[in-house]
Amino acid sequence: MVQKSETIWFDGKQVPWDEANVHVLTHALHYGTGVFEGIRAYECADGSSEVFRLEEHMVRLANSAKILGIPMPYSVDELVAATVETLQVNKLPGAYVRPLVFVGEGAMGVHPGENPIRVIIATWPWGAYLGEEALEKGIRVKCSTFNRHHVNVMMTKAKATGNYVNSVLAKTEAVADGYDEAILLDTTGHVSEGSGENIFMVLNDVIYTPHSDGVLGGLTRDSIISLAGDLGYEVREEPITRDMIYTADEAFFTGTAAELTPISSVDRRVIGTGKAGPVAKLLQGEFFKIVKGENEDYEHWLHRYSL
Ligand code: PMP
Repeated sequence: MVQKSETIWFDGKQVPWDEANVHVLTHALHYGTGVFEGIRAYECADGSSEVFRLEEHMVRLANSAKILGIPMPYSVDELVAATVETLQVNKLPGAYVRPLVFVGEGAMGVHPGENPIRVIIATWPWGAYLGEEALEKGIRVKCSTFNRHHVNVMMTKAKATGNYVNSVLAKTEAVADGYDEAILLDTTGHVSEGSGENIFMVLNDVIYTPHSDGVLGGLTRDSIISLAGDLGYEVREEPITRDMIYTADEAFFTGTAAELTPISSVDRRVIGTGKAGPVAKLLQGEFFKIVKGENEDYEHWLHRYSL
């Protein structure tokens, strides 16, 4: 269960959590016509707070809306200000932030017509998405029987609500089969991403991740690519097959929710030693320092705020 906050920003106003409701004929409920973001705010080591890569998340939200043809009622700057306001009103030094832009009630056909576009920003306290232990020990993963979207079937660059039915299918299958998470292969059979994470593998100290073509352009992915490069690693964006991961030294997921979560096994094949590998540990440790404001080289990624 999500831990309730006091208010949710809803169409420009702070609305009490329990009153932030919609009609059952909301277009997005029927046809998946919504776009959203997942963002994290962190409490910093010095007692201040920051929202990680806030502007870029809001730009991705605006781009997702553009891809779906949803007119965006607010500018990126307005959404950034609304996020900080909501964190402050709810007195949250750290939080998960969920903006959602969706087509509201009105016409009931597939065509959204003139239906209102509604926007919320919800914030709540949230710990490790896959569990604290997962961050340390890694998770067990299976390659899903469901393929990731073909790039011309769903728009993979849009973080669209409807796209996530594919993620729900893969995740529920994986959990029902006793795994923690799924890897989705694309329609050519190559590795694409997790149900809500990008994927990396390490072989002979070279870091590999699938090209961003058919996957969501993850901001954590981008952060880890930059960070790894700054730490002197070669990072190759190229097609990866599932057997390349089976025989990798290390593999890990990245995402706002998952942060950097090592993968201990894939399809019951132990990856490397079956524990968090040295590259994953190093990158995870450095990533956590950055988000907690302890590395000033990456201060430009932090949107600081105070309560
Ligand atoms: N892929 C998918 C399908 C996702 O849902 C997410 C989470 N937004 C990611 C990758 C990782 O993106 P980010 O690092 O920006 O959270």
